[in-house]
Amino acid sequence: MVSYKELGLVNTREMFKKAVAGGYAIPAFNFNNMEQLQAIIQASAETKSPVILQVSKGARNYANQTLLRYMAEGAVEYAKELGWEHPQIVLHLDHGDSFELCKSCVDMGFSSVMIDASSLPYEENIALTKKVVDYAHQYDVTVEAELGVLAGVEDEVSAEESHYTRPEEVIDFATRTGCDSLAISIGTSHGAYKFKPEQCTRDPKTGRLVPPPLAFNVLHEIEKKLPGFPIVLHGSSSVPQEYVDIINAHGGKLPDAVGIPEEQLREAAKSAVCKINIDSDSRLAMTAAIRKVFDEKPGEFDPRKYLGPARDEMKKLYMHKIVNVLGSDGKAE
Ligand SMILES: [Zn+2]
Repeated sequence: MVSYKELGLVNTREMFKKAVAGGYAIPAFNFNNMEQLQAIIQASAETKSPVILQVSKGARNYANQTLLRYMAEGAVEYAKELGWEHPQIVLHLDHGDSFELCKSCVDMGFSSVMIDASSLPYEENIALTKKVVDYAHQYDVTVEAELGVLAGVEDEVSAEESHYTRPEEVIDFATRTGCDSLAISIGTSHGAYKFKPEQCTRDPKTGRLVPPPLAFNVLHEIEKKLPGFPIVLHGSSSVPQEYVDIINAHGGKLPDAVGIPEEQLREAAKSAVCKINIDSDSRLAMTAAIRKVFDEKPGEFDPRKYLGPARDEMKKLYMHKIVNVLGSDGKAE
């Protein structure tokens, strides 16, 4: 058993309280390799932004959970080396799907875990979430829960109202589980194809897809029921068209990839939404940079010569998100 406090990590409690009061949101960036982690820490240190490092199921399978934990510990020291005197870094389990997994993360030094039991019936979601909260809180680890079903790319009915979080359930859910934050569904979705072309309109000038707006009415109703309670948005990449264009211009094939417009995320960050998850955008930045090198310099075979530019591009993206979308810069001096 190792406490995250010994590793120099923090939980989300104070961070979220300040973010809700201050009208900004904390970036939650997924990582599964060194270059991504370096870019996240460089961007956070340079902007003095609190940051949440997220480890997903895919990342655990790809890179190994233990190794990722040690990388996060190293990230704290790296941040200090970069001149960030008091780094505020959370190590968070993204989409934990069982009590055992959440417990193992708490025991190995994660400072925050998500238990996603949103696919279970309501009462079972409450029971499992409460079990995780009871365990995690003994060690001052914060817990994110989920209520409502996030739209999926393959989901035929993803835009239907029934998938949104039901505001009438949130007080009961938060009270009975004791969770510290709540992921809700208001129209965001995972992946680089968040909407089907038939769900969108098309900009007549550019021919680009314009996605349907987020359900701000649902968000505002939830805020009214739970004033000041930390709200989380998953699946909030914007799928920047510049990256999609670079990828497609250099041999890639991402037709009609579409995300959540940044203005809408900026709007959400001003509300009780205090954690915004971004994963796909970083993948796109990395892929765009690598494809460009491969296409323009076919003789290059030193991985540092393409992973280096990929890292620079990701750092640029993270800084843009922190400063221009979430507003978290300067909040962790
Ligand atoms: Zn998610």
